[in-house]
Amino acid sequence: MKIICIGRNYVAHALELKNEVPTKPVFFLKPDSALVISNRPFFYPGFSSDVHHELEVVIRIDRLGRSIEEQYASRYFSEIGLGIDFTARDLQAEQKKNGLPWEIAKGFDYSAPVSEFFPVSRFGDIHDLSFRLDLNGKTVQEGSTSLMIFTFEKIIAYVSRFMTLKTGDLIFTGTPAGVGPVAINDRLEAYLEGEKVMDFPVK
Ligand code: MG
Repeated sequence: MKIICIGRNYVAHALELKNEVPTKPVFFLKPDSALVISNRPFFYPGFSSDVHHELEVVIRIDRLGRSIEEQYASRYFSEIGLGIDFTARDLQAEQKKNGLPWEIAKGFDYSAPVSEFFPVSRFGDIHDLSFRLDLNGKTVQEGSTSLMIFTFEKIIAYVSRFMTLKTGDLIFTGTPAGVGPVAINDRLEAYLEGEKVMDFPVK
């Protein structure tokens, strides 16, 4: 499986990192070795001193598809959850400055913890889902999927023009504003529609 991550999908986050608001989706990949499940700890990597949390809504692809039309895109996923796109911001800044790829900043081990996944049918309107991240009991990120620049369907249509989507692939759909550093011994708790779906420590 592959993990596809959308960058800059919320206006306020694009601006907080002084990026332009994109006119088409920006995406990158993380390897399957980045995945963390079942609230296992995030192990802080020794090669960075500025790892940031990015809380994102994640969809799981459940059908093979390529060049999917936007109007049919909703047929290609039926489960939704949350994930954290951990980012070594110091390495990312260095890579960006030099025009180099982001993998070392985004694709490292443990950089993609995800919650359990829930059927889309459980939610009233997936285009208006609230989610938030608490760091040591204090809310640091809050978002709603209603604020996404590119909807789930637009993302699927765009990404599948370039690469075939397969069952089990995950798409991280971008972070709202409020990204910031984590430290060893921090506790992260993530909520989807008010329900806690992630709770894990940084070690
Ligand atoms: Mg992200």
